[in-house]
Order: sequence, then structure tokens, then C-alpha cells
Amino acid sequence: MPNNTFERTELLNIVKRVKALVGAQREIADKDGLMLNLSSPRLDKRVNKRVNKGKQPKSAKKSSSVKQVTLEDLRKEVLNCRKCGLYKTRMNIVFGEGSRNAKLLFVGEAPGFEEDKQGIPFVGRAGQLLTKIIVSIGFKRGDVYIANILKCRPPQNRNPLPSEVKTCTPYLIKQIELIKPEVICALGTFAAQTLLATTEPISKLRGRFHIWRDIKVMPTYHPAYLLRNPSAKRPVWQDMKKIRQAL
Ligand code: SF4
Repeated sequence: MPNNTFERTELLNIVKRVKALVGAQREIADKDGLMLNLSSPRLDKRVNKRVNKGKQPKSAKKSSSVKQVTLEDLRKEVLNCRKCGLYKTRMNIVFGEGSRNAKLLFVGEAPGFEEDKQGIPFVGRAGQLLTKIIVSIGFKRGDVYIANILKCRPPQNRNPLPSEVKTCTPYLIKQIELIKPEVICALGTFAAQTLLATTEPISKLRGRFHIWRDIKVMPTYHPAYLLRNPSAKRPVWQDMKKIRQAL
């Protein structure tokens, strides 16, 4: 064993360098499908270049940045958001609620009066109907996650402007990336068209799964539409049965 501080420091530096070399070799070999061969000149050249530059392996960088962002961090960011004009008229932001491990995520359009007042999504009459729909397929409201495209209420519940949708959607995308649901149920025209980047009407989109970033998306009618058109409950029930079967 080294018997003075200088020798111990040197030994630690050598160990660190060997670890960095082996880590970088593994990453490059994995990425390129190469056999891990410590005597490969091709591999050595690339590894030395990376280690000498003092770069971290890409995978290590990625995992540390993923760990840093949580739903709570994102919620705090939205709390202070002023990226579009809706911050001026909101009472509360409506970030979303539910299980962070939800397999099923519902996406609506935007908060209404009650949601704006309470800061919780889908709490008005349409929300109560959504809760019944969730229970009808064997879940509790707390098992799923519920969010909207817009986190702030448009005045008088007007339709969201394209610029507002464009500005706010990245928050929803980040929520989806963090929760990683197996199925997304897009409630109504705005949610379905925004997620699927289409202008097709909800009547054409509903009834079948679409794929968005490897996640199944089932568009269906918005609960508020069901309150005005009770005959649409039947197709919604058919869509919900498909979701239940997929989970
Ligand atoms: S609607 Fe979205 S983008 Fe606009 S202020 Fe609210 S959180 Fe920010």
C-alpha cells in the first residue's frame, strides 16, 4: 500500500482514469455493436479522444439530467408561467393531478370556471362525468392522471388560440414523458388534434388507437359534449372498453 499522500493521490488518479477508459470503451462498443476488446486500436483511439477531452459518457449525462426533472419541478415552473396572455386572467394554474405511475392518462382541452377556481382539472359537471367513466372501466380517479393541453383558463371558456396551444403543449409533453402512460385518452377535438397533429374531426379519429411516440392514443368525445349529447355516450363506452382491454 502507498505510504504517503502523494502516492495515494497518484494511485487514486490512476484508478479513476482506468474506470473512465473502461466506461467509455463499453459505451462505444455497445453503441456500435463492437466486441469489447481492450486491445482494439480502433476502439482505443476513440476512447482516448473522449477521455482526454474530459467528456462524460453520453449515457451518464442523460441519466443525471432525467433524474433532475420531476413533476413537482415542472409544476413549479408552470406556476410562474407567463409565456402566453392567459396568465393575466387566470385565478389558478391547473397543472394536472393523479398517479405519477398512471398507466392511463386523460388529456382534455383547458380548465373551465370551476377548474380555474380550484386549480384541479375536471371538477365541474363534465369532471364528475369523467370520474364515472373512469370508474366504469375499473379504475379509481386517483389511479389515472388527468391533465389539459392548456394549464390556464381562456376567458369565458373561449376556444384556445393556436398560439396558446403551441406555447403550452410542451408542458403536457413533459408530463407525459415523466409519467410514461401506456394509454392516453384524448378527450375532445382539441386534445386529439393537438396530440395527433391533425385536423381530422373527432368523429373520424375516435374508435381506434393511434400511436404517438410509441404510446397508444384513443381519442373520444369530451365529457362536456356528452352532457349536451347523451346519445354520444354509447360510442364513448365502446372507446373505453377498448382502453380497458389494452391495459
Ligand atoms: S396557458 Fe400555458 S403557456 Fe399560457 S401562461 Fe398558462 S401555463 Fe403558461
